[in-house]
Amino acid sequence: MIVKKDIRLLDRKELDLIVSQNGWKRFRADQLWQWLWKKNKREFAEMKNLPGDMIDYLSAHYDLVPLKVDRQQISNDGTIKNRIYLSDGNLIETVLIPVPNDKRQTVCVSSQVGCSLSCSFCATGKMKRIRNLEAHEIYDQVVLANNQAQTHYDQVLTNIVYMGMGEPLLNYKNVLKSIDLITSPEGLGMSPRRITVSTVGLEKMIRKLADDEVKFNLAISLHAANDEKRSSIMPINDQNNLASLMSALDYFYSLTKNRISYEYIALRDFNDGLEDAKELLSHCKRFPVKVNIIEYNTITGVDFEKANENKVDAFAEFLTKNGVMATVRRSRGKDIDAACGQLANKE
Ligand code: SF4
Repeated sequence: MIVKKDIRLLDRKELDLIVSQNGWKRFRADQLWQWLWKKNKREFAEMKNLPGDMIDYLSAHYDLVPLKVDRQQISNDGTIKNRIYLSDGNLIETVLIPVPNDKRQTVCVSSQVGCSLSCSFCATGKMKRIRNLEAHEIYDQVVLANNQAQTHYDQVLTNIVYMGMGEPLLNYKNVLKSIDLITSPEGLGMSPRRITVSTVGLEKMIRKLADDEVKFNLAISLHAANDEKRSSIMPINDQNNLASLMSALDYFYSLTKNRISYEYIALRDFNDGLEDAKELLSHCKRFPVKVNIIEYNTITGVDFEKANENKVDAFAEFLTKNGVMATVRRSRGKDIDAACGQLANKE
Protein backbone atom coordinates (compact mmCIF):
# COMPACT_ATOMS: atom_id res chain seq x y z
CA MET A 1 0.00 0.00 0.00
CA ILE A 2 1.37 3.44 -0.92
CA VAL A 3 1.45 5.79 2.05
CA LYS A 4 0.47 9.20 0.77
CA LYS A 5 2.01 12.34 2.22
CA ASP A 6 -0.30 15.02 3.57
CA ILE A 7 -0.20 17.80 1.00
CA ARG A 8 0.05 20.42 3.71
CA LEU A 9 3.52 19.17 4.59
CA LEU A 10 4.64 20.80 1.35
CA ASP A 11 5.76 24.40 1.36
CA ARG A 12 4.82 26.94 -1.23
CA LYS A 13 7.91 26.32 -3.40
CA GLU A 14 7.22 22.59 -3.49
CA LEU A 15 3.63 23.19 -4.58
CA ASP A 16 4.84 25.57 -7.32
CA LEU A 17 7.15 22.83 -8.55
CA ILE A 18 4.38 20.22 -8.71
CA VAL A 19 2.22 22.63 -10.66
CA SER A 20 4.96 23.49 -13.17
CA GLN A 21 6.12 19.87 -13.56
CA ASN A 22 2.59 18.83 -14.49
CA GLY A 23 2.19 21.61 -17.03
CA TRP A 24 -0.53 23.52 -15.18
CA LYS A 25 -0.50 27.33 -15.22
CA ARG A 26 1.30 29.05 -12.34
CA PHE A 27 -1.88 30.59 -10.90
CA ARG A 28 -3.14 27.06 -10.14
CA ALA A 29 -0.62 26.95 -7.28
CA ASP A 30 -2.15 30.17 -5.85
CA GLN A 31 -5.61 28.65 -6.09
CA LEU A 32 -4.54 25.40 -4.45
CA TRP A 33 -2.73 27.28 -1.64
CA GLN A 34 -5.89 29.29 -0.97
CA TRP A 35 -8.06 26.19 -0.75
CA LEU A 36 -5.60 24.60 1.65
CA TRP A 37 -4.90 27.52 3.98
CA LYS A 38 -7.50 30.23 3.57
CA LYS A 39 -10.66 28.39 2.65
CA ASN A 40 -9.62 25.39 4.71
CA LYS A 41 -11.10 22.72 2.47
CA ARG A 42 -10.21 19.18 3.43
CA GLU A 43 -11.39 17.40 0.23
CA PHE A 44 -9.66 17.92 -3.12
CA ALA A 45 -13.02 17.44 -4.84
CA GLU A 46 -14.34 20.59 -3.14
CA MET A 47 -11.69 22.79 -4.81
CA LYS A 48 -14.12 23.89 -7.46
CA ASN A 49 -11.93 26.11 -9.63
CA LEU A 50 -9.16 23.52 -10.15
CA PRO A 51 -9.19 21.47 -13.39
CA GLY A 52 -10.37 17.88 -13.14
CA ASP A 53 -7.00 16.36 -14.06
CA MET A 54 -5.32 18.35 -11.29
CA ILE A 55 -7.86 17.16 -8.70
CA ASP A 56 -7.35 13.55 -9.88
CA TYR A 57 -3.58 13.91 -9.68
CA LEU A 58 -3.66 15.44 -6.19
CA SER A 59 -6.11 12.83 -4.89
CA ALA A 60 -3.95 10.01 -6.28
CA HIS A 61 -0.68 11.32 -4.83
CA TYR A 62 -1.52 13.20 -1.65
CA ASP A 63 -3.61 13.00 1.49
CA LEU A 64 -5.46 15.88 3.08
CA VAL A 65 -6.33 14.65 6.53
CA PRO A 66 -8.66 16.73 8.69
CA LEU A 67 -8.44 16.78 12.49
CA LYS A 68 -11.11 14.58 14.03
CA VAL A 69 -12.74 15.81 17.19
CA ASP A 70 -13.12 12.65 19.20
CA ARG A 71 -14.84 14.24 22.17
CA GLN A 72 -16.05 17.71 23.05
CA GLN A 73 -16.85 18.85 26.58
CA ILE A 74 -18.38 22.18 27.52
CA SER A 75 -17.69 23.54 30.98
CA ASN A 76 -20.20 25.41 33.17
CA ASP A 77 -18.24 28.58 32.38
CA GLY A 78 -18.44 28.02 28.60
CA THR A 79 -14.90 26.69 28.11
CA ILE A 80 -14.84 24.04 25.39
CA LYS A 81 -12.33 21.21 25.58
CA ASN A 82 -11.74 19.16 22.44
CA ARG A 83 -10.02 15.83 22.42
CA ILE A 84 -8.63 15.40 18.94
CA TYR A 85 -7.53 12.34 16.98
CA LEU A 86 -4.51 12.88 14.77
CA SER A 87 -4.04 10.90 11.56
CA ASP A 88 -1.71 8.42 13.30
CA GLY A 89 -4.18 7.76 16.13
CA ASN A 90 -2.43 9.95 18.70
CA LEU A 91 -4.58 12.24 20.82
CA ILE A 92 -4.14 15.89 21.75
CA GLU A 93 -6.33 18.45 23.48
CA THR A 94 -7.33 21.96 22.43
CA VAL A 95 -9.31 24.37 24.58
CA LEU A 96 -11.46 27.34 23.58
CA ILE A 97 -11.82 29.86 26.39
CA PRO A 98 -14.52 32.50 25.96
CA VAL A 99 -14.11 35.49 28.26
CA PRO A 100 -17.47 36.63 29.64
CA ASN A 101 -18.39 40.33 29.25
CA ASP A 102 -15.57 40.71 26.82
CA LYS A 103 -15.19 40.08 23.15
CA ARG A 104 -12.23 37.82 23.76
CA GLN A 105 -12.19 34.24 22.53
CA THR A 106 -8.89 32.55 23.23
CA VAL A 107 -7.69 29.18 22.05
CA CYS A 108 -5.06 27.21 23.92
CA VAL A 109 -3.28 24.96 21.41
CA SER A 110 -1.02 21.96 21.88
CA SER A 111 2.35 21.79 20.15
CA GLN A 112 3.46 18.24 20.97
CA VAL A 113 1.84 14.91 21.80
CA GLY A 114 2.85 14.59 25.45
CA CYS A 115 5.89 16.39 26.84
CA SER A 116 9.42 15.47 27.86
CA LEU A 117 9.94 18.10 30.54
CA SER A 118 8.14 16.55 33.54
CA CYS A 119 7.15 19.70 35.42
CA SER A 120 5.75 18.30 38.63
CA PHE A 121 2.55 20.41 38.74
CA CYS A 122 1.45 19.51 35.20
CA ALA A 123 -0.66 16.57 34.02
CA THR A 124 0.94 16.56 30.55
CA GLY A 125 4.32 16.21 32.25
CA LYS A 126 3.19 12.83 33.58
CA MET A 127 2.97 11.58 29.98
CA LYS A 128 5.99 10.88 27.82
CA ARG A 129 6.72 12.97 24.77
CA ILE A 130 5.44 10.98 21.80
CA ARG A 131 6.05 13.34 18.90
CA ASN A 132 6.04 16.91 17.69
CA LEU A 133 2.95 18.23 15.95
CA GLU A 134 3.23 19.28 12.33
CA ALA A 135 2.47 22.92 11.52
CA HIS A 136 -0.86 22.03 9.91
CA GLU A 137 -1.91 20.05 13.00
CA ILE A 138 -1.38 23.18 15.10
CA TYR A 139 -3.03 25.41 12.49
CA ASP A 140 -6.10 23.16 12.36
CA GLN A 141 -6.62 23.53 16.11
CA VAL A 142 -6.91 27.28 15.54
CA VAL A 143 -9.33 26.82 12.65
CA LEU A 144 -11.42 24.47 14.78
CA ALA A 145 -11.56 26.94 17.68
CA ASN A 146 -12.43 29.81 15.35
CA ASN A 147 -15.37 27.78 14.00
CA GLN A 148 -16.48 26.91 17.52
CA ALA A 149 -16.24 30.53 18.68
CA GLN A 150 -18.54 31.49 15.80
CA THR A 151 -20.98 28.61 16.24
CA HIS A 152 -21.26 28.72 20.03
CA TYR A 153 -20.63 32.40 20.82
CA ASP A 154 -21.22 34.25 17.57
CA GLN A 155 -17.75 35.76 17.79
CA VAL A 156 -14.49 35.24 15.97
CA LEU A 157 -11.39 33.92 17.62
CA THR A 158 -9.30 36.81 18.97
CA ASN A 159 -6.30 35.30 20.78
CA ILE A 160 -4.06 32.26 20.51
CA VAL A 161 -1.90 30.89 23.29
CA TYR A 162 0.60 28.09 22.80
CA MET A 163 0.05 26.77 26.32
CA GLY A 164 -1.52 23.37 25.72
CA MET A 165 0.30 20.06 25.68
CA GLY A 166 4.04 20.21 25.02
CA GLU A 167 6.92 22.69 25.06
CA PRO A 168 6.55 24.85 21.92
CA LEU A 169 10.23 25.75 21.68
CA LEU A 170 11.16 22.07 21.46
CA ASN A 171 9.09 22.02 18.28
CA TYR A 172 10.55 25.28 17.07
CA LYS A 173 10.33 24.87 13.31
CA ASN A 174 6.72 23.72 13.18
CA VAL A 175 5.53 26.21 15.79
CA LEU A 176 7.03 29.11 13.85
CA LYS A 177 5.68 27.73 10.59
CA SER A 178 2.18 27.49 12.09
CA ILE A 179 2.44 31.11 13.27
CA ASP A 180 3.55 32.21 9.80
CA LEU A 181 0.44 30.57 8.37
CA ILE A 182 -1.89 31.95 11.04
CA THR A 183 -0.61 35.50 10.52
CA SER A 184 -0.23 35.38 6.75
CA PRO A 185 -2.88 37.16 4.66
CA GLU A 186 -2.98 33.93 2.66
CA GLY A 187 -3.87 32.05 5.85
CA LEU A 188 -5.95 33.37 8.75
CA GLY A 189 -4.49 36.89 8.63
CA MET A 190 -4.37 37.31 12.44
CA SER A 191 -2.03 39.77 14.10
CA PRO A 192 1.07 38.24 15.77
CA ARG A 193 0.37 40.56 18.71
CA ARG A 194 -2.60 38.33 19.49
CA ILE A 195 -0.41 35.27 19.75
CA THR A 196 1.48 34.23 22.88
CA VAL A 197 3.98 31.41 22.97
CA SER A 198 4.53 29.98 26.42
CA THR A 199 7.81 28.31 27.32
CA VAL A 200 9.61 26.92 30.33
CA GLY A 201 12.40 29.27 29.25
CA LEU A 202 14.99 27.51 27.10
CA GLU A 203 17.84 29.98 26.91
CA LYS A 204 19.18 28.98 23.49
CA MET A 205 15.77 28.98 21.88
CA ILE A 206 14.76 32.34 23.35
CA ARG A 207 17.91 33.85 21.86
CA LYS A 208 17.01 32.22 18.56
CA LEU A 209 13.51 33.75 18.69
CA ALA A 210 15.14 37.16 19.10
CA ASP A 211 17.55 36.54 16.21
CA ASP A 212 14.61 35.41 14.08
CA GLU A 213 12.85 38.72 14.92
CA VAL A 214 9.55 37.13 15.87
CA LYS A 215 6.61 39.45 16.48
CA PHE A 216 4.52 37.44 18.93
CA ASN A 217 4.43 37.68 22.73
CA LEU A 218 6.38 35.44 25.03
CA ALA A 219 5.11 33.93 28.28
CA ILE A 220 7.59 32.33 30.64
CA SER A 221 6.43 29.51 32.92
CA LEU A 222 8.37 30.81 35.89
CA HIS A 223 6.48 29.41 38.91
CA ALA A 224 9.35 29.99 41.35
CA ALA A 225 11.76 32.88 41.79
CA ASN A 226 14.88 31.08 42.99
CA ASP A 227 16.82 28.17 41.51
CA GLU A 228 16.35 25.80 44.39
CA LYS A 229 12.57 25.98 44.34
CA ARG A 230 12.33 26.13 40.59
CA SER A 231 14.54 23.08 40.06
CA SER A 232 12.45 21.14 42.56
CA ILE A 233 9.31 21.53 40.41
CA MET A 234 10.84 22.04 36.95
CA PRO A 235 13.81 19.76 36.18
CA ILE A 236 14.68 21.88 33.12
CA ASN A 237 15.91 24.56 35.54
CA ASP A 238 19.00 22.42 36.24
CA GLN A 239 20.30 23.12 32.73
CA ASN A 240 18.55 26.47 32.22
CA ASN A 241 18.84 28.28 35.51
CA LEU A 242 17.27 31.63 36.28
CA ALA A 243 20.43 33.61 35.53
CA SER A 244 20.70 32.15 32.02
CA LEU A 245 16.95 32.56 31.46
CA MET A 246 17.03 36.21 32.53
CA SER A 247 20.00 37.01 30.34
CA ALA A 248 18.22 35.39 27.36
CA LEU A 249 15.13 37.48 28.13
CA ASP A 250 17.24 40.67 28.28
CA TYR A 251 18.52 39.79 24.84
CA PHE A 252 15.03 38.96 23.54
CA TYR A 253 13.55 42.21 24.81
CA SER A 254 16.42 44.38 23.62
CA LEU A 255 16.06 43.03 20.09
CA THR A 256 12.29 42.65 19.72
CA LYS A 257 10.56 44.85 22.35
CA ASN A 258 7.84 42.19 22.31
CA ARG A 259 5.63 41.75 25.35
CA ILE A 260 6.94 39.33 28.01
CA SER A 261 4.88 37.85 30.83
CA TYR A 262 5.65 35.50 33.68
CA GLU A 263 3.24 32.71 34.49
CA TYR A 264 3.27 31.89 38.18
CA ILE A 265 1.14 29.06 39.57
CA ALA A 266 0.46 29.79 43.22
CA LEU A 267 1.18 26.66 45.26
CA ARG A 268 0.22 26.61 48.93
CA ASP A 269 3.14 27.13 51.31
CA PHE A 270 5.61 26.63 48.49
CA ASN A 271 5.84 29.83 46.48
CA ASP A 272 2.99 31.99 47.79
CA GLY A 273 4.69 33.97 50.58
CA LEU A 274 5.82 37.58 50.64
CA GLU A 275 9.47 36.45 50.60
CA ASP A 276 8.68 34.72 47.30
CA ALA A 277 7.02 37.88 46.01
CA LYS A 278 10.15 39.87 46.91
CA GLU A 279 12.35 37.42 45.02
CA LEU A 280 10.00 37.55 42.08
CA LEU A 281 10.13 41.33 42.11
CA SER A 282 13.89 41.19 41.56
CA HIS A 283 13.22 39.51 38.19
CA CYS A 284 10.69 42.14 37.17
CA LYS A 285 12.96 45.16 36.93
CA ARG A 286 15.05 44.22 33.91
CA PHE A 287 12.42 44.79 31.21
CA PRO A 288 8.68 45.55 31.26
CA VAL A 289 6.92 42.39 32.36
CA LYS A 290 3.46 41.39 33.45
CA VAL A 291 2.94 38.68 36.06
CA ASN A 292 -0.01 36.31 35.73
CA ILE A 293 -0.63 34.54 38.99
CA ILE A 294 -2.54 31.37 38.23
CA GLU A 295 -4.73 29.35 40.51
CA TYR A 296 -3.42 25.80 40.88
CA ASN A 297 -5.70 23.08 39.57
CA THR A 298 -5.69 19.75 41.30
CA ILE A 299 -4.02 16.92 39.43
CA THR A 300 -4.26 13.30 40.52
CA GLY A 301 -1.02 12.03 42.02
CA VAL A 302 0.42 15.48 42.77
CA ASP A 303 0.78 16.68 46.35
CA PHE A 304 0.49 20.42 45.79
CA GLU A 305 -2.52 22.36 46.95
CA LYS A 306 -4.10 25.54 45.74
CA ALA A 307 -2.81 28.62 47.60
CA ASN A 308 -5.12 30.52 49.91
CA GLU A 309 -6.94 33.26 47.99
CA ASN A 310 -6.16 36.01 50.50
CA LYS A 311 -2.49 35.12 50.35
CA VAL A 312 -2.56 35.20 46.57
CA ASP A 313 -4.24 38.61 46.61
CA ALA A 314 -1.59 39.92 49.03
CA PHE A 315 1.13 38.53 46.76
CA ALA A 316 -0.36 40.32 43.76
CA GLU A 317 -0.84 43.53 45.73
CA PHE A 318 2.80 43.53 46.79
CA LEU A 319 3.91 43.34 43.16
CA THR A 320 1.43 46.00 42.06
CA LYS A 321 2.51 48.37 44.85
CA ASN A 322 6.06 47.95 43.64
CA GLY A 323 5.18 48.96 40.12
CA VAL A 324 4.70 45.56 38.49
CA MET A 325 1.52 44.76 36.62
CA ALA A 326 0.15 41.61 38.25
CA THR A 327 -3.16 39.85 37.73
CA VAL A 328 -4.69 36.86 39.42
CA ARG A 329 -6.23 34.40 37.01
CA ARG A 330 -8.94 32.25 38.47
CA SER A 331 -9.14 29.06 36.48
CA ARG A 332 -11.56 28.30 33.69
CA GLY A 333 -12.88 24.93 32.64
CA LYS A 334 -11.84 23.16 35.86
CA ASP A 335 -14.93 20.92 35.92
CA ILE A 336 -13.87 19.32 32.63
CA ASP A 337 -10.10 19.18 33.35
CA ALA A 338 -9.49 21.88 30.76
CA ALA A 339 -7.70 24.33 33.05
CA CYS A 340 -4.03 25.20 33.10
CA GLY A 341 -1.86 22.13 33.69
CA GLN A 342 -4.73 19.66 33.45
CA LEU A 343 -4.48 18.54 29.80
CA ALA A 344 -3.51 14.90 29.64
CA ASN A 345 -5.98 12.71 27.71
CA LYS A 346 -7.10 11.03 30.90
CA GLU A 347 -8.34 7.89 29.18
S1 SF4 B 1 4.16 22.67 32.04
FE1 SF4 B 1 4.54 22.64 29.81
S2 SF4 B 1 6.70 22.07 29.67
FE2 SF4 B 1 6.08 21.53 31.76
S3 SF4 B 1 5.46 19.36 31.61
FE3 SF4 B 1 3.61 20.62 31.30
S4 SF4 B 1 3.44 20.81 29.08
FE4 SF4 B 1 5.54 20.17 29.53
